[in-house]
Amino acid sequence: MEYTQINGVRVSRIGLGTWAIGGLEWGAVADRESIDTCRAIFEHGINCVDTAFIYGDGHAERIVAKAMAEHGRREDFYIATKGGLRRGGDRVVADGRPTQIQQEIEDSLRRFQVDYIDLYQLHWPDPLVPIAQTANAMREMYETGKIRALGVSNCSAQQMAEFQAVAPLHASQPPINLFEREAQESIVPYCRKHEVAVLAWSALCRSLLTGKIRADQTFPENDIRSADPKFQPPRLAQYVAAVDALDRYAQEHYGKRVLHLALRWLLDQPDVSVALWGARRPEQLAPVEEIFGWKLTAVDMQAIDRIVCETVKDPVGPEYLKPGLRQ
Ligand code: NAP
Repeated sequence: MEYTQINGVRVSRIGLGTWAIGGLEWGAVADRESIDTCRAIFEHGINCVDTAFIYGDGHAERIVAKAMAEHGRREDFYIATKGGLRRGGDRVVADGRPTQIQQEIEDSLRRFQVDYIDLYQLHWPDPLVPIAQTANAMREMYETGKIRALGVSNCSAQQMAEFQAVAPLHASQPPINLFEREAQESIVPYCRKHEVAVLAWSALCRSLLTGKIRADQTFPENDIRSADPKFQPPRLAQYVAAVDALDRYAQEHYGKRVLHLALRWLLDQPDVSVALWGARRPEQLAPVEEIFGWKLTAVDMQAIDRIVCETVKDPVGPEYLKPGLRQ
């Protein structure tokens, strides 16, 4: 495992993502397996667990709490959670009102049964609330010691600047993976300049980069991938062809598979601190060791870019996940 620092604390460069563990957006998950997955991280040198209230409306946080209780040492976990999203009717809406965010922090502390959260992130900016107001509320909680680092997610460079005008900002969580790189245009450079750690979400592009998705694959309605434009024909075939070509490249040059290549690519991007890898079964973390002990060269990076550019003619980003406006 490689490690980085967030506000002076040692954090593994792979973080377990618990979106699926929430149980609402990726189909059914068994709680016992979810808890075992959260505990299996230590076999691989991982200490970082990324979660959020919205992942099962508190369910993922409760699963992490159970894993911490069974493990027995809270301090072994680096808990990154998020607030500022909730369900409003049949959709997810942003809610960054100061009282709401402070209440959410208290609720998360209670669910985790801990007296501090390592990193608290605003999940998505709320267009109805100036981000400085949300940041101010988060700063107040940081000053009480209940939060040990402050973060944002899905925020532009401008929004991060507005946040930093009133509160410290230790981390930012944009989407970055081999197929989704928009954050590298201005978000990552901002983070570099202002020494903000970058936690990249959807490291495996919501499972596309594992190599197991086929061009004719369909997903049940309760699986978010059924609504993800990347996973719809005819576009899906382009992505799958790119994955197949990347897999061949990984095998020929490194004796690795596309999943290893995708994670290595992400960790070799300048200024990416942590790659968030979604898993809901312990064995899904088995490939972790294969990602370390080698690096991609500049020639590899160019070859990878060429494969993606030549194969994915109709790219699309993760914008479909953007929350709605509160009523
Ligand atoms: P991801 O890491 O891009 O892909 C995860 C999926 O890949 C898993 O659910 C699993 O699918 C499959 N997978 C994982 N390991 C595998 C293995 N060894 N072999 C085969 N398949 C494997 O997914 P993600 O959940 O979208 O992103 C990771 C994390 O980023 C999230 O959990 C969350 O913590 C964070 N995130 C944050 C935001 C935000 O707005 N801040 C948004 C999205 C995600 P199956 O279980 O279906 O097999």
